[in-house]
Amino acid sequence: MSSRRETMLREMGLAPLWKSRGAKAGTIGAGGKPPAPPGSFVDEDPPSTPSVAREARIARMDWTALKAAVPACTACALHKSRTQTVFGVGDENADWLLVGEAPGAEEDQKGEPFVGQAGKLLDAMLAAIDLSRDTNVYIANVLKCRPPANRNPDPSEVAQCSPHLQRQIDLIKPRLILAMGRFAVQTLLGTEASIASLRGKLHAYHGVPLIVTYHPAYLLRTLPDKAKAWQDLVFAVRTFEGLQAREPAPT
Ligand code: SF4
Repeated sequence: MSSRRETMLREMGLAPLWKSRGAKAGTIGAGGKPPAPPGSFVDEDPPSTPSVAREARIARMDWTALKAAVPACTACALHKSRTQTVFGVGDENADWLLVGEAPGAEEDQKGEPFVGQAGKLLDAMLAAIDLSRDTNVYIANVLKCRPPANRNPDPSEVAQCSPHLQRQIDLIKPRLILAMGRFAVQTLLGTEASIASLRGKLHAYHGVPLIVTYHPAYLLRTLPDKAKAWQDLVFAVRTFEGLQAREPAPT
């Protein structure tokens, strides 16, 4: 294990208990990508309602259009209380996509997801498996605006904002999604099952393999579950490596 990884694991309170077996820097981010999963918001029939028309419009956007549309969005009441939208950050061609819930106070101020203590923990966890939001991961939330007082998102807010995340996923074409926290997990998988019951299994979102883990903010409050989160990351790395191994050799 590299000294950098040891340092990161120590920051997470995990070293020397957990160690990723087989996770190497060169193995992540290599290789081609599978075809894009079919987007659920593209309707072959002509749009029949304003809502369907909006979803179809978003589903056709490129990065430039999407990055302009989100800050201008007033589709739900959250636009009234936000300081700014939090679009997402990272490599737009990343193999790994991390999805959280919604911006908190610091994210609302800075316009970037996962800043503050939870962000530091997330960065440490990613560094331990040789991933970084600066180079080979994309990080986004289900909601692009902060719910007041960090209340739980309302289903109607999720419905209005989901086309943005769906379009991000279609554009990124990730090979693996890591859903972090109950809200992101339940939204993406369309279930009310607990994280505990969903961890350690391979799920899928629109054809993209999806792995479930805890939200870093939760881990800050519940230290014993850090070890479980590390298990989830190791599972994610092994799954990713398995996906690569099944890729046909380039001709
Ligand atoms: Fe628009 Fe999403 Fe913000 Fe609601 S949360 S205003 S749908 S960007």
